[in-house]
Amino acid sequence: MALSMQCSESSLFSDIRDPGARVRKLCDYACQVEVDTAISPKLYLRSGLQMIRMAKVYEEEGNIESAFVLYTKFISLFVEKLPKHPEFKSAPSRDVAAVRQKVKLAFPVAEQIKGKLTKKYAEIERNRQAEERQIQEELERQQEKLRQEEEIRRRQQEAEENCLRLASEAKWMQEQEQRLLELKEQEMMKNIDSQSQILDPANNANQTGLNNQNTKPSAPHGALGLSFIPNNLDDGRPKIEKNLLNDPSRISSSVPNIPDRELKKNLVISDSRLGPPGVDRSSKPTFDHFTSIGVPGNNKGGLRDVFVPSDLVRKFLGVAEHNTMKNIETCGILAGKLSKNAFYISHVLIPKQAGTSDSCVAEDEEDILMYQDPRDLITLGWIHTHPSQTAFLSSVDMHNQYGYQAMLPEAIAIVCAPKFNETGIFTLTQDRGMSDIGCCRERGFHQHCKTPPLFESCSNVKFLDEMRIEMADLRK
Ligand SMILES: [Zn+2]
Ligand SMILES: [Zn+2]
Repeated sequence: MALSMQCSESSLFSDIRDPGARVRKLCDYACQVEVDTAISPKLYLRSGLQMIRMAKVYEEEGNIESAFVLYTKFISLFVEKLPKHPEFKSAPSRDVAAVRQKVKLAFPVAEQIKGKLTKKYAEIERNRQAEERQIQEELERQQEKLRQEEEIRRRQQEAEENCLRLASEAKWMQEQEQRLLELKEQEMMKNIDSQSQILDPANNANQTGLNNQNTKPSAPHGALGLSFIPNNLDDGRPKIEKNLLNDPSRISSSVPNIPDRELKKNLVISDSRLGPPGVDRSSKPTFDHFTSIGVPGNNKGGLRDVFVPSDLVRKFLGVAEHNTMKNIETCGILAGKLSKNAFYISHVLIPKQAGTSDSCVAEDEEDILMYQDPRDLITLGWIHTHPSQTAFLSSVDMHNQYGYQAMLPEAIAIVCAPKFNETGIFTLTQDRGMSDIGCCRERGFHQHCKTPPLFESCSNVKFLDEMRIEMADLRK
């Protein structure tokens, strides 16, 4: 079940080939989770329950690596890190007990997933090795083909050279025969001359010695030819023959010489699925929040998608209308689920609250938890009206948003300004917004730096027509 997902999901530390070592690395990474002491332990404890909800979803969907990361972060956060928080002792004992109970359950689950994960990584490694073998075999096939082609070329060249050699030998033989014939003719002519001198008495007495020499030549006819042949063997034969037959470099240089290593490199690079070995961007998780899974989402800042039903704002404004008419703000909690690594807002919870023209404070948080817990709802942000102002985040809003966003980087703030027919969906900027507000100790309305802006419109939110929002008005 889980194994079928291994190719589609991105994975951490895929450069580590040993399954055991890879799981250990994942464990080390998840244990590096840190606690921000500016955030109250109570917020962490509440968020812990949502981490478990998210981990369960990843596990059920077969994404056991992400489930393991979240369970491990959860255990490390609440067993090791949070108890060192300076305000831990003042945390609500009910929340501490609830999380302790979840920790007890999380240990065996994490251990079980660890076993599955080791098997999964072993399977991935086996597949990778099989793939590498296939590539190697393909390489060898290509090399063999090249070798065969080279052999054919070599033979063709040899045959051509043979033809040339035979032709030049035949020509040479012809020349020699021609030469021999000429020599024979010359010899014959000399003999005829000398015989005619013997028959001529006038010359006989003076030329006896010469005649003796000529009738007994120092070398036979054939020898004259032979003595001529060796001198002309070197000079007469065409040079091409010597070069081609005796110089091996001449043959090999006419055939493309591709070293195996070079060929391998070319073939491996041409296969874009593979990439250079040992290089993997996912080996160093850049996206690291205690609720994140290490693999960044596709949006700016590595955020996962947040889907919002398109009837949400209209329905919330309907519920808020009574307050809006009286110039009083209304606020609600956005809650929903995780599915396939994206968040879906499904509920707006309207708690008992106290509002003014520019503020709104929830009065009973327990009601919200009582509603959320049995439904496994995750808090995904908040929504409020600005009855007489435009849509923006005031300084008080930004501090409120910080609490949500510190617990879940994808948490959003929806601001509805019906008087201006405006709706803003905001988030604190991940660098300046989160750090400035996190460090700011002022309360009530106050000034923050304006440039760069500390909040911005969300880029990871998408409206869905086919989803319907459920309004849960807890004021009644
Ligand atoms: Zn506001
Ligand atoms: Zn401030």
